[in-house]
Amino acid sequence: MCLFCKIINREIPSNIIAENDEFLAFHDINPKAPIHILAIPKLHVDSFNDTSPQMMAKMTSFIHDVTKEVNIETSGYRVITNIGDNGGQEVKHLHFHILGGAKLKWGHLSDVDPKGLI
Ligand code: 5GP
Ligand code: ZN
Repeated sequence: MCLFCKIINREIPSNIIAENDEFLAFHDINPKAPIHILAIPKLHVDSFNDTSPQMMAKMTSFIHDVTKEVNIETSGYRVITNIGDNGGQEVKHLHFHILGGAKLKWGHLSDVDPKGLI
């Protein structure tokens, strides 16, 4: 069973923000912003590659609920999902990072200088 499935099953403790029958949101253990929440489906899905439009519609609604719960929907936030090796995905259970609580930085995201490629 994967790490996040264990969190869903309460085999590993987590700090839960919101939950319904299909999704769970909890604080990231290693936050990269004052608010850093992970939103996941309770059904194991490896990554964004394996999502359906139907699941994403419900996931969108759940993420909206989470941003309201922690009061960042008007101040602004970022939603990220990492996919595969180049995406930097470490946990192979679909998750959306919800980052906020301060102005987020935006810069080069890779070791390759993109300007040199254009
Ligand atoms: P990824 O790199 O796969 O997109 O993100 C995985 C995230 O899971 C990382 O931000 C990491 O800090 C978080 N994480 C890893 N293990 C745990 C854990 O046991 N509990 C919680 N709450 N977060 C975790
Ligand atoms: Zn899983």
